[in-house]
Amino acid sequence: MPTAPSPRSRVRRLHDKAAYDRATIDAILDAMPVAHVGHLVDGNPVVTPTLQWREADRIYWHGSSASRMQNRAAGAEVCVTVTLTDGMVLARSGLEHSFNYRSVMVFGKAEVVEDPVAKAAHLRAMMDEMFPGRWDTLRPMTAQELKATRILSLPLTEASAKISAGPPTDPVEDLGWPVWAGVLPIKLTLGAPEPAPGLAPGLTIPAHATSYKIG
Ligand SMILES: Cc1cc2nc3c(=O)[nH]c(=O)nc-3n(C[C@H](O)[C@H](O)[C@H](O)COP(=O)(O)OP(=O)(O)OC[C@H]3O[C@@H](n4cnc5c(N)ncnc54)[C@H](O)[C@@H]3O)c2cc1C
Repeated sequence: MPTAPSPRSRVRRLHDKAAYDRATIDAILDAMPVAHVGHLVDGNPVVTPTLQWREADRIYWHGSSASRMQNRAAGAEVCVTVTLTDGMVLARSGLEHSFNYRSVMVFGKAEVVEDPVAKAAHLRAMMDEMFPGRWDTLRPMTAQELKATRILSLPLTEASAKISAGPPTDPVEDLGWPVWAGVLPIKLTLGAPEPAPGLAPGLTIPAHATSYKIG
């Protein structure tokens, strides 16, 4: 279902690159776990990089219960951004140089997941989304670890996507300028797995270690 933009989520600058439909927004969120959480600390803006994951109509991020970001963002208005860089765009003039990208901005009041059972389920979902089946193979989480973890969440009700793609958009009078122009594609890929030192004997690389797709 399309998400209608609110006054603060309506793209004004280069609005032809905007999208508000959930399919577009979800695809970007699902392709990039790295997010930046913008929040205020004593009235000053702070943008904290962290990991996000999506479950249905919400995004989640977690951290130490003692983390400043977790404490200050809890219950407060935040803006979470997720960005994928797809290419560097070299144009005929400096002004027209740009990036190709897919990005999302989500606004709202960060809600704390309080219920320990729900918290544990969300942590499992985070792991399963990236590495299906891995949670059940891990040393079980302790009650203390769960207590020391805070999970924050935002609904995807106020969000925008902006997508920039394609070749440089030089004005027609610049096209004959004798300089190379084009796109340098950026591909984000995972490398070959590197086993940790001290692995228990007899272990092989699990399928989920090579199946994750990023970007
Ligand atoms: C990798 C990368 C490189 C960029 N490089 C530049 C640059 O060098 N210079 C530059 O001016 N801009 C750059 N942008 C675009 C930048 O993110 C902003 O869209 C742009 O600066 C306009 O900002 P604004 O606040 O004036 O937009 P407005 O259109 O006024 O913003 C209004 C609303 O539109 C939405 N919105 C705006 N930008 C985005 C976005 N990127 N993704 C999702 N929603 C968005 C938000 O909901 C925002 O509140 C870059 C973006 C990316 C991802």
